[in-house]
Amino acid sequence: MTEQHRIVVLGAGYAGLSAAGRAAKVRGARVTVIDARAEFVERVRLHQALVGQPVPRWNLRERLERKGIEFVQARATHIDTRARLVALDGDWEIAYDSLAYALGSIADATTPGVAEYAHSVATPEDTARVPALTGRVAVVGGGSTGIEVATELAETRPDLSVLLITSAEPAAWLSDRAGAHVAAVLDRLGVRVRSGTKVIAVTPTGLDLADGDHVDAETVLWTTGFAVPELAADSGLAVDHRGRVLVDTAMRSQSHPEIYAAGDAAVIPGPGDRDLRMACATALPTGTRAAAAIADALHGKPAHPLRFRYYIQCLSLGRRDGVIQFLRADDTPTGTVLTGRSAAWFKEGVVRGAAWTARP
Ligand SMILES: Cc1cc2nc3c(=O)[nH]c(=O)nc-3n(C[C@H](O)[C@H](O)[C@H](O)COP(=O)(O)OP(=O)(O)OC[C@H]3O[C@@H](n4cnc5c(N)ncnc54)[C@H](O)[C@@H]3O)c2cc1C
Repeated sequence: MTEQHRIVVLGAGYAGLSAAGRAAKVRGARVTVIDARAEFVERVRLHQALVGQPVPRWNLRERLERKGIEFVQARATHIDTRARLVALDGDWEIAYDSLAYALGSIADATTPGVAEYAHSVATPEDTARVPALTGRVAVVGGGSTGIEVATELAETRPDLSVLLITSAEPAAWLSDRAGAHVAAVLDRLGVRVRSGTKVIAVTPTGLDLADGDHVDAETVLWTTGFAVPELAADSGLAVDHRGRVLVDTAMRSQSHPEIYAAGDAAVIPGPGDRDLRMACATALPTGTRAAAAIADALHGKPAHPLRFRYYIQCLSLGRRDGVIQFLRADDTPTGTVLTGRSAAWFKEGVVRGAAWTARP
């Protein structure tokens, strides 16, 4: 191992920070974290930010430098994998020996009209751009983000008319008991649900549906899933059809062994045929594993595979209700579910714990 092995961590979200914290413990390595933002913002609370609740944030430079980690606030624009350089906006570069790629995800704006007329809570910047809400708000997507957004809005802003539009039933992937609870809370909060339909376009006045209908809405909130930055694909890394970096079980890029990827930006083999979910719950352990794999490689040790399984999935349903779904090792739901106020508290504890774990 050279005295000054340069570990560069791209992205200071949950995955990047947990990688940086682990990398800082690697003897003889110099760790640099690059992020376009000056602050870490708890992304899993952006539906709370949407309704004006304060979301914890802290200064990246201050925190990282206190731990002996260099911080560079800049947007990465390219990775020159031959020269091992990360190009940054402002026309400069940073060299690496090992790179941890953790650029996370952004809103998926592939449906026509989404980029022009819809809004999102996928990133702090997107959330800050959501205009003052009035009248009819259509939330598109019955996944966890859509459900959390719709319930938070309906609970905080009873003056709004909130419509949740989904192709399947909301929370269809959870157990029957959890699904029934989600449906009951949506109903209690006055959220109207239109399921079994697909949005084909967003227009200046609302949504066009596949069944030919048009839904009028003053604001459309788009929550149908995440896309990933194109940087990995543009830089020639092996990626899947969505642009996520293909890694082995030790988070190592399948095409570039000096690059490791973690979190939403990586496609990580999970139980059965399924990939691990794009989730904070995935980002934290995979970030740590990526940095540990770098340490293993430096010390000439065989890379340990990621050993990970999900135990629960948590959904907030406003501030006073929630669902904690217990899971089998293959990530399918068991019949055990916690609901109501205790579930809301449980989820709050998990969210605080995640931020605490990420903080180097
Ligand atoms: C409203 C909402 C609620 C959620 N709730 C949950 C939940 O309850 N549980 C759960 O497990 N997950 C939840 N998620 C998902 C979770 O937030 C993500 O899966 C998680 O943040 C992924 O972590 P990450 O570190 O991979 O990426 P991110 O947290 O997205 O971090 C990526 C970092 O990379 C930086 N970056 C990106 N591009 C560049 C560039 N070119 N140059 C420099 N820096 C760049 C960004 O600024 C960012 O800091 C939620 C998401 C949202 C939006």
